[in-house]
Amino acid sequence: MTTNCVFCKIIAGEMPSDILYQDELVTAFRDINPRAPVHILVVPNRHYDSLADMGDEDGVVLGRIVAVTNKLARDEGIAESGYRFLTNVGRHAGQVVFHVHFHLLGGRPLGPMVMTRW
Ligand code: 5GP
Ligand code: ZN
Repeated sequence: MTTNCVFCKIIAGEMPSDILYQDELVTAFRDINPRAPVHILVVPNRHYDSLADMGDEDGVVLGRIVAVTNKLARDEGIAESGYRFLTNVGRHAGQVVFHVHFHLLGGRPLGPMVMTRW
C-alpha cells in the first residue's frame, strides 16, 4: 500500500468505488469518469507506478489481469461486439494515476486506436 495512492486506497476498501471483482492479486472497478458504456479499470493489488515497472517476474499477476478482463467482458456483454484493453505509460500517453491500471472499454464503436492529428 502506497500512501496517497488513490487506487491503493480503493483496493484496501478505504475509498468508495464500484468494485466488480477482487481476489488476492487483482481488483477491478468502474472508472469514475466512463468514456464508453463499459469502462472498467483492472489493477494489480500491489502498487507499481506504471507498466514500465513490470517485467518477467510479474507474469502471474499480468496473466490474472488478462483472465479477469476477459471474464468481465463476457459478464458485461461485450465479448462478442469487441473491446479495447489499454494502459497509459507516462506523459505522452496521458497517464494521470500512477498505480498501473488497464482500461477495459467497450459497448460502442471505439474509434481509431490513437488520434491521428495532433
Ligand atoms: P489514466 O489517464 O491514468 O490512464 O487513467 C486514469 C483513470 O482513472 C481515468 O479514466 C479516471 O477517470 C480514473 N479515475 C481517477 N480517479 C478515480 C477514482 O477515484 N475512482 C475511480 N473509479 N476512477 C478514477
Ligand atoms: Zn497504489
